[in-house]
Amino acid sequence: MCGIIGYVGTQDAVPIIMDGLKKLEYRGYDSAGIAVFGRHGFDVVKRKGRLTALEERLAGEPIDGHMGIGHTRWATHGEPSDVNSHPHVGSGNRVAVVHNGIIENYKQLKERLERKGVTFVSQTDSEVIAQLAEYYYTGDLLDTVIKVANALEGSYALGIMCLDEPDTLIAIKKDSPLIIGVAGNGLFLASDVPAVLKHTNKIYYLNDREIAVLTKDQVEFFNPDKEPIQKPQETVTWSVDSAEKGGYPHFMLKEIMEQPGVLRETIQSVIHNGDNKNIIDNIDVTRFSKIVITACGSAYNAGVVARYVFEKLCRIPVEVELASEFRYKDAIIDEKTLVILISQSGETADTIAAMREAKSKGAVTLSIVNVVGSTIAKEAQHTVYTLSGPEIAVATTKAFSAQLVVLYALAIRFAAKLKKITPQTETELVSALVSLPDKAAELLIQINYIQKYASECVGYKSIFFIGRNIDYAIALEGSLKLKEISYIHSEAYAGGELKHGTIALIEENTLVVAIACCKSLYGKIQSNAEQVISRGAKVLFVGNCIDAAPGDKLSLITLPQINELFSPSLSVIVLQLFSYYVAANKGLDIDKPRNLAKSVTVE
Ligand code: GLU
Repeated sequence: MCGIIGYVGTQDAVPIIMDGLKKLEYRGYDSAGIAVFGRHGFDVVKRKGRLTALEERLAGEPIDGHMGIGHTRWATHGEPSDVNSHPHVGSGNRVAVVHNGIIENYKQLKERLERKGVTFVSQTDSEVIAQLAEYYYTGDLLDTVIKVANALEGSYALGIMCLDEPDTLIAIKKDSPLIIGVAGNGLFLASDVPAVLKHTNKIYYLNDREIAVLTKDQVEFFNPDKEPIQKPQETVTWSVDSAEKGGYPHFMLKEIMEQPGVLRETIQSVIHNGDNKNIIDNIDVTRFSKIVITACGSAYNAGVVARYVFEKLCRIPVEVELASEFRYKDAIIDEKTLVILISQSGETADTIAAMREAKSKGAVTLSIVNVVGSTIAKEAQHTVYTLSGPEIAVATTKAFSAQLVVLYALAIRFAAKLKKITPQTETELVSALVSLPDKAAELLIQINYIQKYASECVGYKSIFFIGRNIDYAIALEGSLKLKEISYIHSEAYAGGELKHGTIALIEENTLVVAIACCKSLYGKIQSNAEQVISRGAKVLFVGNCIDAAPGDKLSLITLPQINELFSPSLSVIVLQLFSYYVAANKGLDIDKPRNLAKSVTVE
């Protein structure tokens, strides 16, 4: 889950790489490093800790060069330390490598090289790539990289440079993302577009095992047999500002506040002028006997919400599976199954594996992805993009919300095609969906109250989230958000389950957040609230059908009225803001929570 960047061109590579690493820090931040092709060989500086530690070191020991590679790490093999940081350089100091991924056969390769007298200095899997490249090098870096790649098992995105080829930077990938950027002042490789956006929006997306050979004014692509290949250049429409904080203290708050706009753009992309019939019309939904939604983390929670919507509208059975479980369970699926994959990055390792498993069993795959050209977007048979722009905060907000509206739009369209709803109901649902961005904007007006309420919640030992039906689905996301960024213990429960165990945990200094948007179940959730209040807890009600008076033990946040099926899109904004302000009041590093990284490209 690291971030890598490389540059070769007419400018000094160091400030360009350091700036790019800042944009990639969301991918990993336990250590960082840079190597440039200096006047007397490679100059390598690596530091454990945040990027600022590397910056400080570089200020005291400046380096420069026209070509270089950089890395921000989320350790998988070997603790975060100076020596385990990337770039890794072979023992002869001739090949330097940055790596994102995991080399599964590194032990065998390492032992083989050690038997031949090579001495390793780090505990990482990645060092073996640099050592192997040096061992194989016989005067042609491209040949060497192909040979190295043939020996590697696992996942990798690599930036490689060699002392004998001062103008050449090589990029290659398998199962980890890698893009190539073309600018007037040079060529870039990077894990993600925001790292290069300041310099260019002309991007090539590398496919697995493709190789890019970068020099200061051109890029050439090759397949693994060293045959030249042509690739389409894409123009990215994200603005430079979209990768900056824009005056907000954290990316997370900026991204929460962007949600009305993101919802509007995503809805417009799938529904034009109140007409949603153009999306996925080439899928024959009548052939499916069930739908399986598979994803990880928050995207999984979006799937849990969607199950209620699809089942209610389409009357078709829906299973929601964690991708990390689905890939190993020998799922009962066939060509009559639609498998929906949800991933912000489109590079989530478990979701990629789940997609490949689904395809191998003949199921039809449909992905909902934010990053254009990512692996899942390319490999799934059908793809709908969320138009969230780059999401930098590790805890997802706007991408989750965009996933939800795509799922709603799909459910409405599928239900109409299956003739489970009348044309009139379809029109009503579409118009409710189209009204969602304005309702989200209306809700954000309550931000000061949410901030004040959250500031009084930092002392809670445990915070539970409860709900019933679709409110339970969004309670899962509220609880996950809180855990991720505030480190307060939290669990989500279906309200009816409290009495089967969880109520034993309720005592003084416990907060229960009860989501209440399902009108027909309001009485039930209210009695759950009374049960926990009488055992010492305080309750926060979040919903649009609340019929209770606030008091000492009970607080309320009311939402604008919306069709119940779409209410999670509003309640989640309150839950996101609540988590954000609890964490902010604890003074935590909200955009980069401990132990987490954003796009989980390792298993
Ligand atoms: N496996 C490498 C390391 O631990 C890269 C980590 C990653 O890409 O997540 O250094």
